[in-house]
Amino acid sequence: MTRVLRRLFSPTRGYSAEPRERIERTGASFSQVSVHCVRYMIWAEVQLMLKSLKRFSAISFLCAEWPVCMATLLFSASPALAQNKPVRVIAFGAHPDDCDLGAGGIAAKYAMLGHKVKFVSLTNGDAGHQSQHGEELAKRRRAEAQEAGRRIGIEYEVLDNHDGKLLPTLEVREQVIREIRQWKADIVIAPRPNDYHPDHRYTGVLVQDASYMVIVPNLVPDAPPLTRNPVFLYYSDRFTRPQPFRADIVVSIDDVFEKKINMLDAHVSQFYEWLPWTEGVLDQVPNDPAERKKWLAKWPSAARKLQPEWREALEKRYGAQAASIQHAEAFEITEYGHQPSEEEIRRLFPFLPQMASR
Ligand SMILES: [Zn+2]
Repeated sequence: MTRVLRRLFSPTRGYSAEPRERIERTGASFSQVSVHCVRYMIWAEVQLMLKSLKRFSAISFLCAEWPVCMATLLFSASPALAQNKPVRVIAFGAHPDDCDLGAGGIAAKYAMLGHKVKFVSLTNGDAGHQSQHGEELAKRRRAEAQEAGRRIGIEYEVLDNHDGKLLPTLEVREQVIREIRQWKADIVIAPRPNDYHPDHRYTGVLVQDASYMVIVPNLVPDAPPLTRNPVFLYYSDRFTRPQPFRADIVVSIDDVFEKKINMLDAHVSQFYEWLPWTEGVLDQVPNDPAERKKWLAKWPSAARKLQPEWREALEKRYGAQAASIQHAEAFEITEYGHQPSEEEIRRLFPFLPQMASR
């Protein structure tokens, strides 16, 4: 019982923060704050129950506190939780660290608000190192990915396809369809199919090819089809052919930037070994763990500095606040999935401020 209650209302779900602190920390809307207040009351009750469980014998607890607490849970939790169904996000990358770079900030934001995020790497990363390879490297990278997910409170799965050899086969497409269905995704994020790396490119193709098939019942019969196509998003990139990335949704990640860097820091084999080696700067990586984290925060692909072409989309949602935003993640809504209305965008991106200038 104690374990179940902790799992449902643990502080990592973000319900334990005092409402005033939460408003300041997240800049939440009025409706979000209302829901949070109810959850905060429930969490306070749960804490009382857990304390009581420790303090009293099981019999005295059942007689005295349990009925009151259960009544509180039943009558106050149900309407709020029903109205505030968690948003379910699944992000795909070719390698263990790709999703983190593109969407680690928003993943941290979703997790803090109690929503559900899963990162999936389509390859096991067994080619990305200058001195390690094969199973040894795959094992190390899987452990790094799982640690990265743990640091921000999300799930992380690494599939066992070989790094550097990913192809848009029917078998991998079905893996992608299965992942999206099993996660019951509202949002799916993937790279665009224009990229310098073939694994990235084919990850884009594979997810694009799954974007209608997730609702077709006769395919992948072991995973029930979704009843509605999710919203499919692309991560931002710098490629211009055949067309440049279009920033539809830009999210400030200033408030979770340290969390994101802490997540990236878990991929030691990549950010402190392989990528500096490929760029000829391995000798510049500091040995001290705190110093190397600061060094990582300045790496352009980690820093996600606000790009000039994202400013318009940012200002649309953040208004005057946009002028002071430093770090951001941007996404393009693909043509192939569900096309969300503005109302749906507000529900699917609950950390965006109420629209400033529409
Ligand atoms: Zn990659």
